[in-house]
Amino acid sequence: MTVKGEKKKKTIKTIKIDVDKCNGCRACEMICSAFHAAPKYSSNNPARSRIRVIREPLKDVYVPVYAGEYTQAECAGRDKYTIDGKEYDECAFCRASCPSRSEFKEPDSGLPLKCDMCEGEEEPLCVKWCSVDALSYEEREEEVEEAVEQEQLETGLESLANKYGLQQIMDTVARMSQKD
Ligand code: SF4
Ligand code: SF4
Repeated sequence: MTVKGEKKKKTIKTIKIDVDKCNGCRACEMICSAFHAAPKYSSNNPARSRIRVIREPLKDVYVPVYAGEYTQAECAGRDKYTIDGKEYDECAFCRASCPSRSEFKEPDSGLPLKCDMCEGEEEPLCVKWCSVDALSYEEREEEVEEAVEQEQLETGLESLANKYGLQQIMDTVARMSQKD
């Protein structure tokens, strides 16, 4: 059910990607994985990065892609783009952590990775480290109905319930509320 609520200000954070400027250096992958290492900056491994650069040097194709939402099932149909005569592979622009590919999964546990815009930092580190300005950061304020957030909450709960079972989610919530 959708309940309309008060309007709230929300900050929308965007990273603009200029694929024509990207040279495939992978500095963005390095700094992202180092920032998210535990302890911070103790190691770097692009496989743990929340940005991956789809690289096909022979076709001069370099596409930085940010990790988005986790999805349980791959799409039934896939997309394929040709832009300015360059053909991009299936799913090249997709941000999902999806069972059909290895990107955006923590290598040891297989848990999905998602870009958090470098929470706590003034500016995303991948943007800072891109020496050719292929990435640029923008922020804007938008007014949103609270009901939109309610829908997002329900979608998140539904995917957790699908993954772990409703009873396990309810037991966990009951356990957490007893801790207070
Ligand atoms: S740091 Fe910039 S140029 Fe290098 S791969 Fe990432 S987006 Fe491309
Ligand atoms: S914004 Fe931060 S978390 Fe997101 S891909 Fe860039 S470095 Fe990683």
